[in-house]
Amino acid sequence: MYDVKSNKAEEFINDQEIKESINIGETNKSNEKLITSIIKKGSEGKGLSHREAALLLACDIEKLNKRIFSLAQEIKMRIYGKRIVLFAPLYISNYCVNGCVYCPYHKGNKETKRKKLTMDEIRLETAALQDIGHKRIALECGEDPVNNPIEYILESIRTIYSVKNKNGSIRRINVNIAATSQENYKKLKEANIGTYILFQETYNKKNYEKLHPTGPKHNYEYHTLAMDRAMEGGIDDVGLGALFGLSNYKYELTALLMHAEHLEAAKGVGPHTVSVPRIKPAVGIDREQFTEGISDEIFLKIIAVLRIALPYTGIIVSTRESKEARRKALEIGVSQISGGSKTTVGGYGEPEDEKSAQFTTTDRRKLDEVTQWLISLGYIPSFCTACYREGRTGDRFMKLAKSGNISNCCQPNALITLQEYLEDYAATETKISGETLIKQELANINDTNIRNKAKAFIKSVKHGERDFRF
Ligand code: SF4
Ligand code: SF4
Repeated sequence: MYDVKSNKAEEFINDQEIKESINIGETNKSNEKLITSIIKKGSEGKGLSHREAALLLACDIEKLNKRIFSLAQEIKMRIYGKRIVLFAPLYISNYCVNGCVYCPYHKGNKETKRKKLTMDEIRLETAALQDIGHKRIALECGEDPVNNPIEYILESIRTIYSVKNKNGSIRRINVNIAATSQENYKKLKEANIGTYILFQETYNKKNYEKLHPTGPKHNYEYHTLAMDRAMEGGIDDVGLGALFGLSNYKYELTALLMHAEHLEAAKGVGPHTVSVPRIKPAVGIDREQFTEGISDEIFLKIIAVLRIALPYTGIIVSTRESKEARRKALEIGVSQISGGSKTTVGGYGEPEDEKSAQFTTTDRRKLDEVTQWLISLGYIPSFCTACYREGRTGDRFMKLAKSGNISNCCQPNALITLQEYLEDYAATETKISGETLIKQELANINDTNIRNKAKAFIKSVKHGERDFRF
């Protein structure tokens, strides 16, 4: 039976409820009156239920689909403004005991070159990331209690935070490691992580068990309840995601929204971010076995519906996607992207060894190229990490976001951190266009106090000081 607050995975990610929601969507895909009323509700910016979202996803009326896209765009601008937060993944070990059939790190893949970074190597990787301008990373690691125990993860986090190379520093480490115990989540919280990220991969239990035939990850219940344990362990910013292409996309999106509803109902706060990766080629993986791949058109519709259904949740798109797909995704809802990413273990400090990569990146531009591109599209590239450092996490963050006041922090912080980037890392052309943008956008800050304070911080950055924030 469906129960949003249940502590059993199959009750809050209830198969029957998902299928019924998809059916209602299909039956009403041409119901103009009903879909129009949902779009109207979505325009209030308070989100939509999974059933309402399933209806928007199924809609086949062209003029209403256009309206769905333009509403997503409007909501994005209203809440997030022009800032786009940048980050990079840092792979520290690809040893893994799981059997995920879509991932080259799975235990049985003999073609993957296994590698685990030592603390010295992590220092080198961190310095290399700092040298290109990153301030925020997502730490990535396979599941292996012998090679990658929690102590290794915690030591890696301490090491990364301790590296200060020239003006560089990694100020926020989001962590993407396997589902673990409440006690370990507590340790991660104490280590000052930003967001705990864990993709469900697929919410369809039958497929999940088939795609994860061996290893601890085979346990659907334990994996699906990971965010509950993380929150009970004190982590209040969690990042959800599904790997689109493993199961039917309507099923995944509906279930993902049910997961978000469950966290809000049972733990008092919904997800901080949602990622929408699509399955990509990788060493030793036969992609032909996955028949649920989605087109660019559907990919963008998913992002638009997510933007309307979860207005206060950041949406992340990685370099798995092409430059063009990312451009369109940014327009309709994405608020955070990776840039200059290496998906190999140790790929920043040394030339990449593709045989240790988790997936092939499509957007291979350098961080500076991505930064310059964002500026040319009218966005403000942001290296901001302020919220968790100011204690604005979980419901404190949500309250600010829902009242619309978060933009009073995002906008100036984006400009201050962009100025840092221009001073320390940018190519000449990026510096010129970035300076012009900062000047224009400072003038667009309505609140005089905030504008003057932001100007003063930017002046100090130009004089060599660092790390100011709202
Ligand atoms: Fe291991 Fe994660 Fe890859 Fe599965 S997806 S094989 S758990 S690294
Ligand atoms: Fe993100 Fe907070 Fe910075 Fe805005 S102010 S970009 S929400 S960290």
